Amino acid sequence: MAQNETATNRILVVDDDAMLIGEYLRCLGKDFEPDSATSTLTDLEKVLFGEETDEKGAAKFEVQSCDQGKIAVEAVREAVKVGNPFSIVFLDIRMPPGIDGIEAAKLIREIDQNVNIVIVTGSVSPEPENLGKEIPPADRIFFFKKPFHAVECRQLAAALCGKWHSDLALRRANDVLEQRVWDRTEALHRLAYYDPVTDLPNRLMLLDELQLLIDDADSPDSNTAVVLLDIERFSFLNETMGYESGTALLSEIGKRLIRTCSDLVGAPQSVVGRFGADEFACLIAGVDDDDALEDIVARIKQSVEEPFLVCSREIFLKASIGVAWHPVHGRDSKTVFRRAEAALHRSMRRLEGRVTWYHSEMEHRAKHKFDMEAELRQAIENGEIVTWFQPQLSLNSGKIAGVEALARWLRPDGTIVAPSDFVPLSEEMGISDMFFESVMRHVCGVIAQWKEESNWDIPVSVNLSAHQLRNHKLVEIIKSILRKEDIDQNLINLELTETVLLEDLTIAMPVLNDLSEYGVGIHIDDFGTGYSSLSYLAELPVKTLKIDQSFIGRLTESATNAKIVQSIIALGKAMELEVVAEGVETEQQLMLVTKFGADLAQGFFIGRPMPAVEFIEWCSIVDQTTSDLPVLPDVLARES
Ligand code: C2E
Ligand code: MG
Ligand code: MG
Repeated sequence: MAQNETATNRILVVDDDAMLIGEYLRCLGKDFEPDSATSTLTDLEKVLFGEETDEKGAAKFEVQSCDQGKIAVEAVREAVKVGNPFSIVFLDIRMPPGIDGIEAAKLIREIDQNVNIVIVTGSVSPEPENLGKEIPPADRIFFFKKPFHAVECRQLAAALCGKWHSDLALRRANDVLEQRVWDRTEALHRLAYYDPVTDLPNRLMLLDELQLLIDDADSPDSNTAVVLLDIERFSFLNETMGYESGTALLSEIGKRLIRTCSDLVGAPQSVVGRFGADEFACLIAGVDDDDALEDIVARIKQSVEEPFLVCSREIFLKASIGVAWHPVHGRDSKTVFRRAEAALHRSMRRLEGRVTWYHSEMEHRAKHKFDMEAELRQAIENGEIVTWFQPQLSLNSGKIAGVEALARWLRPDGTIVAPSDFVPLSEEMGISDMFFESVMRHVCGVIAQWKEESNWDIPVSVNLSAHQLRNHKLVEIIKSILRKEDIDQNLINLELTETVLLEDLTIAMPVLNDLSEYGVGIHIDDFGTGYSSLSYLAELPVKTLKIDQSFIGRLTESATNAKIVQSIIALGKAMELEVVAEGVETEQQLMLVTKFGADLAQGFFIGRPMPAVEFIEWCSIVDQTTSDLPVLPDVLARES
């Protein structure tokens, strides 16, 4: 090995003639005095060896000798083994009864590619010009004619040792270069195929790996699933926690996914990668059936939604998931991956972390998205987007104390489209402001009508999306609509989810302060599902917390669930906020939230969202005894 080779001038002389060995030792020895040739020789040696010469400039050789070819071969082997190889082997051609010089040279060459072999012979056989072919490489085999002059031998030794050293230096330089090229190629390969943050395969590599899994499948019908995850609000977390913590979190997610996928029973092979800023992929081969796949996806989702400890902080994540698989959704990696992405985008648009299984309708959807967009634009212009109203019951007075305005798209054919199906689309299209204005106008029109017809002053909550918060004209738009309809600003509340609020607090803060100063109430919607930082509550001009429906839905399932709701209500009260329990579907739930001290309740048990006209009728049915706001039956009165 080049690294172990030391830089001494080691020479092996092999000859069965003891006299000749003596001659070698004399002329290569350090006390050699070759009369008139001395100065020329030492000059040459000085040039060739520099420090490897003695004070007279004569080269220092370390000479070893033997009288048989086989012994020479073993000596070379040993020298290479200990990392102290010979620079030259002088080999006599005939050394009976052992192997001859040519055979010994061939064996030596097999062991040491770099040693200079000098065949020493008294005859012209073998032909010197054939030696290079017989024992390559040709630049390391030489022919030396006996009898030789001592100076000739020393000159040759000096020249070949010099050559050996420069060959060595060249080889080392080449090794360094080769290593550098290799490292660079490896680095480029990693850069092209791996994500530098998590060290996981990137999109390109994932596509290759997916194709390999598909090609290697036991049977053409074996399922290879692509499970794609988008970590919700990662950019927000990254900004608030700091880049380093964000990076650590991404690595942890990657590690957890690898662990989960390698623990999957019945799925022999898996690959985990990162194909976008906060997007991860799990490729799972050999999934038996749909049930098994469902179980796998649930476990993957659960694994990233269990808390992470990053920089001593517990972080809770939610993941949107899209799934497609080979061979059902595509025959090649690109198609399957693309379809899993379509499913993922669908999940992401649904706001909450959900799982979407690819189905052919999605492609159809994508193809007709333009039509749908045009239809929605038209619908807003035609006034097909209306608001329905869902009552909110005051748990203190038992009266209806507010309503939430919920958008509905009433198509001319009579079908009703839910907001989850068109609000995200309006945002994607960049027309959510136009949509918001139309909702606000409708709401203000209804408030004005209620006031005029029934003398009601009932506050209405309107939902705001993240896009609207970024509209720098938002405050102006709201003011101008209220002014135009002559609506008191205290009758309008704006609902924002925690997620929307915290996505960009620096943008949200001044807008909300302006709105609050103007007199509009700020409500936090779906409270408890977002990022578990409470400090923002104290900083924002929040008036009301709306506990997410999921907590109320599970309220009566266990004592722990009840305690959670009780604590959230207590927290809201401690911060002097009004608390609304959302999604109340049963009498028992209503009793409990009343007991825990919630201020308002909203849910199907009290009333479903309904058109404005129906809402008035509903109110009169609920309470026909008074022309004032309706009072619900006694059962709703707060327990003392
Ligand atoms: P949200 O603001 O949390 O509205 C409450 C949702 O829960 C409504 O669904 C409502 O119909 C439903 N809900 C109310 N009580 C119950 C109950 O007891 N049980 C159950 N299972 N559900 C109940 P909806 O109308 O489909 O609205 C869904 C979401 O769409 C809303 O959630 C809101 O985030 C968004 N949204 C609705 N209208 C608008 C709008 O005008 N603008 C914006 N940006 N988003 C809107
Ligand atoms: Mg709401
Ligand atoms: Mg809500």
